[in-house]
Amino acid sequence: MNEYDSSRILDLLKKSDYEKTENSENVDCYLINTCHIREKATEKVFHDVGRIKKNYRNKKKPIVLIAGCVAQAEGEIILKNDKYIDAVIGPQSYQELPKIIKGIEEKRSRSNFTEFETIEKFDQLNLIKNSNTKISSFLTIQEGCDKFCKFCVVPYTRGPEYSRSFKELIEESKQLIQNGAKEITLLGQNVNAYNSSNKKLSDLIIQLENLKGLERIRYTTSHPNDMTDDLIDVHGTSKKLMPHLHLPLQSGSSKILKSMNRNHSIDHYLKIIQKLKKRKPNIKFSSDFIIAYPGETEEDFNDTLKVLKSVGFINTYSFVFSARPGTPADLLSLIEDNISKKRLQLFQEIAEKIKIDYRQTLIEKKVKVLFENRISENKYFGRDEYLNSVIVQSVNNLVGRNIEIKIKRCNHQTLFGDIIENPSEKNFAA
Ligand code: SF4
Repeated sequence: MNEYDSSRILDLLKKSDYEKTENSENVDCYLINTCHIREKATEKVFHDVGRIKKNYRNKKKPIVLIAGCVAQAEGEIILKNDKYIDAVIGPQSYQELPKIIKGIEEKRSRSNFTEFETIEKFDQLNLIKNSNTKISSFLTIQEGCDKFCKFCVVPYTRGPEYSRSFKELIEESKQLIQNGAKEITLLGQNVNAYNSSNKKLSDLIIQLENLKGLERIRYTTSHPNDMTDDLIDVHGTSKKLMPHLHLPLQSGSSKILKSMNRNHSIDHYLKIIQKLKKRKPNIKFSSDFIIAYPGETEEDFNDTLKVLKSVGFINTYSFVFSARPGTPADLLSLIEDNISKKRLQLFQEIAEKIKIDYRQTLIEKKVKVLFENRISENKYFGRDEYLNSVIVQSVNNLVGRNIEIKIKRCNHQTLFGDIIENPSEKNFAA
């Protein structure tokens, strides 16, 4: 979502005559868009600002702005601890940026904009064309969360759930397609909770499906409790919705899920997986896991391993629990470091084996790849329907093409393949 936000911030700042630059030696304004989901986020901000200070020691000081969830959660501390920072702007206050910058340019005044004004933000952003030209583009449809999982900062940093209007989303999707997008990933902290005047995520997918030029639709990130039957059904009927779903589980133990306030059981999660497989037999899943959440016993951890193996997630993101300041889980006693690390290592070894075994099954198979960019001369990067990275060598420009590739080899990050023989399209040897 920060990538989407950063791109919209750039659109917004064009109004103030600012442009993106790669030249870090001669910058008028730095904007650091931050994420608070991992630990030490604030320290990283101070390090980044330290580097800017060093670079600009004998030059005119640039304006320095800290945006995003770290600004939202720890804005006051940031402004107090580092006078070099001119303003902190929470994720729901980006629309104020032109005004903030003007204020700093004129009076060098320092400010803290961390109100939750989601509606106002999108009202402003809707007036500005989305100029993103990526083949695979993000589109924020929903922000915030009302679920209050005990470990999570999102309800405090992004605020309550807010869904953008159906009409403005169709409009922005059309702009993205006009700019060249062939794939749109619908974003939200709780994307499947989308509800605008009784229009749900399934309605939006059905509507987007009709847009000419759009070839692929994805959505992320979902909560199991919002995987309603209409949404599950659309996985079976949509031609453009990709057969891959990222559905965070966090733990394989219903006891731990309860203490996390996830409000669903393992059985419920597995039922959703079953229903989805029934509607879309080739669907595959990825997930997020928190290892060694406070109170996790060896038995709970083994339950997590059991689910990991039984679902066969093709990708997982796993971390040892790290307490986020201000969340209820911050008050809980941590599991000993050596135990947590050992569990994470075992989890990741098994997850990696599942992933590699799955990737091996793709060798000599045909997969459909949408190419996003050229990474070096005659080398192109794209993703298959399951979000796997694919690299292909070709004398022809593949950017924007959605074509069949034969996979020849893989490593744990990337698949390498050849274009399926066609007299007009010869590969280099991969
Ligand atoms: S549902 Fe997701 S975003 Fe909401 S509180 Fe839980 S983990 Fe955070």
